[in-house]
Amino acid sequence: MSKHYDLISIGAGSGGISAAERGAEYGKQCLVIESSKVGGTCVNIGCVPKKIMWNAANLAHGLADARDYGFDVSNNGLNWSKLIAQREGYINGITDWYGNYLKDSKIDYINGTARFVDAKTIEVNGEQFTADHIVVAPGGYPVIPDLPGADLGLTSDGFFALKEQPKHITIVGSGYIAVELAGLMSSLGSQVTLLIRKGHVLGSFDPIVSQTLAQVLQDDPNIVLLSTTEVETVEKNDNGMLTLHCTKNQQVNNVDALIWAIGRAPNTADLNLSAAGVEMDKNGFIPSDEYEETNVKGICSLGDVNGKAALTPVAIAAARRLSDRLFNNMPDRKLDYSNIATVVFSHPPIATIGLTEEQAHNSHGDTVKVYSTRFNPMSHAFTEHKAPTAMKLICIGAQEKIVGCHMIGPGVDEMMQGFAVAIKMGATKADFDNTIAIHPCSAEELVTMR
Ligand code: FAD
Ligand code: NDP
Repeated sequence: MSKHYDLISIGAGSGGISAAERGAEYGKQCLVIESSKVGGTCVNIGCVPKKIMWNAANLAHGLADARDYGFDVSNNGLNWSKLIAQREGYINGITDWYGNYLKDSKIDYINGTARFVDAKTIEVNGEQFTADHIVVAPGGYPVIPDLPGADLGLTSDGFFALKEQPKHITIVGSGYIAVELAGLMSSLGSQVTLLIRKGHVLGSFDPIVSQTLAQVLQDDPNIVLLSTTEVETVEKNDNGMLTLHCTKNQQVNNVDALIWAIGRAPNTADLNLSAAGVEMDKNGFIPSDEYEETNVKGICSLGDVNGKAALTPVAIAAARRLSDRLFNNMPDRKLDYSNIATVVFSHPPIATIGLTEEQAHNSHGDTVKVYSTRFNPMSHAFTEHKAPTAMKLICIGAQEKIVGCHMIGPGVDEMMQGFAVAIKMGATKADFDNTIAIHPCSAEELVTMR
């Protein structure tokens, strides 16, 4: 007879683990099924390894800046193998911890690929399990374009598996991953070609951050920014290097690593969703309502797979609220998807929350008032390497309620979380103005804008 659970999570990523963890806290019997590694994308091939690389890249800038501050520092180069070994050691520590934590929390765990048998039954490794609630949180995978030679390239997954530092890395795409990898690889000393199909990076962001970053990328001596260019074919040469044949007869030569960073698609192929009657949208996402319920009662979808906001804290928060609602008598508990702050770990970083100026004008018309500032932060006042800072506050109505905040510059990644609390609570420009500045730091500009 198949074992019955209160909750089965498909995927041991940010969403799946969090739903089971919160369920187990309420004394519920939970099973987590994972086809790859515990921790999912964020821990193994996403946020965590990326942030380690970003930290390393910041240190590279720090070493250069230190000389301008009078230190006698020589940089004898990066030992890539050591960096990767340290990074993977750290990640292994996290996944080991997760394994023990699941056991200690009395959450059952199976390594294998889950597929629906019917709306209440999941099969994995030839065994069947039933549950009152099934949480579908299989995340996504990076898209590879359909063009000749495309599979000679890697994705972010392959980037994190590189054993040697590429000398000339070409990154295709204009979103989070493309600009993050371009910035950190340039800082670590690789030659970077960033190939974008339109005239912008981070097209959905407010121009104050996307245009400032585009200028930084253009000014970076290690980066060639090829704009309004698309790859048509990829060819491997006898010396093992790649040549990219692009639109407008352009070529990119001597590429030793090509990374596609053109978006991610939902991981639904193995799930046999039709057996459960679960509907997908035209892009394969599994839509869920405000309570994360799919069209089938008892089956929820959350995290990257529901296509709402592909960020780790969103998956975690949605999952925890779901288990609170299901198992702790909190029938209205759900995630509010408005005003979610996000950071792009570019160089310099970007932090943003709420509406862009264009979105604010579209929804609030003439009541919008915008404050902005640009400056060279004191930390880089006399360093050769510059890191521009720009900030914008978007306010609406007579009260000047703040509905958007967009920043780029050193430190904004750590600055945003506290401001996000204030904005989520409905802060106005007057609240910011009434807050005494902390001096001297970049953050003070946010409470002194005129
Ligand atoms: P995942 O974490 O992807 O977990 C899903 C798991 O389900 C996977 O482990 C998968 O193997 C498993 N699975 C899939 N199908 C099955 C099946 N049939 N049976 C069993 N298991 C299955 N977000 C941030 O907030 N900050 C960042 O800095 C950040 N950086 C990122 C950097 C990169 C390079 C990438 C790729 C992503 C980054 N993200 C970041 C996004 C973040 O990683 C995701 O939003 C988050 O991991 C989504 O969690 P999830 O639970 O939905 O899916
Ligand atoms: P994104 O959705 O951020 O960006 C992909 C972009 O690539 C598209 O917006 C598009 O921009 C461009 N693109 C699409 N197809 C092509 C193509 N065929 N050729 C060239 N360019 C193309 O995807 P990512 O893969 O970078 O990241 C996926 C998601 O993961 C992010 O949206 C984010 O939610 C999450 N993430 C979060 C991070 C963080 O929090 N710091 C870091 C990394 C990922 P355009 O239309 O303008 O050309």
